[in-house]
Amino acid sequence: MAKILIVDDEPHMRLLVSAMLKSDKHELCVAENGQSAMDLLKDGGFDVMITDLVMPTKNGIDLIMEIKQALPQLKIIAMSGGGGINGRFDYLPIAKLIGAENILRKPFKREDLSSAVEDILATHN
Ligand SMILES: [Mg+2]
Repeated sequence: MAKILIVDDEPHMRLLVSAMLKSDKHELCVAENGQSAMDLLKDGGFDVMITDLVMPTKNGIDLIMEIKQALPQLKIIAMSGGGGINGRFDYLPIAKLIGAENILRKPFKREDLSSAVEDILATHN
């Protein structure tokens, strides 16, 4: 069992990802943008963060860069539809480049998410 933070500006994605992980018995928290995520992460105890990339207030790329400095132990899975704010820019390779351990392209299946989480917990401890 791991403590996981799910970060996405779209309420239905927070619900969907939470629902997908529920049966794996993890402890789940949600945040709606990078700023709220940092506030929660400062309280500590999180093992994994699953974050969207395109979000208002603080986007996922800025969030990942900040975490790599402030909380390098935290494992990160980035998820995105690949659509940028103004077009079709693909942020997922950038997320990987700046240190996300795993990436998921939306839409993904429950099995994809579940194995991404299990892989990260098995490989990076
Ligand atoms: Mg978004």
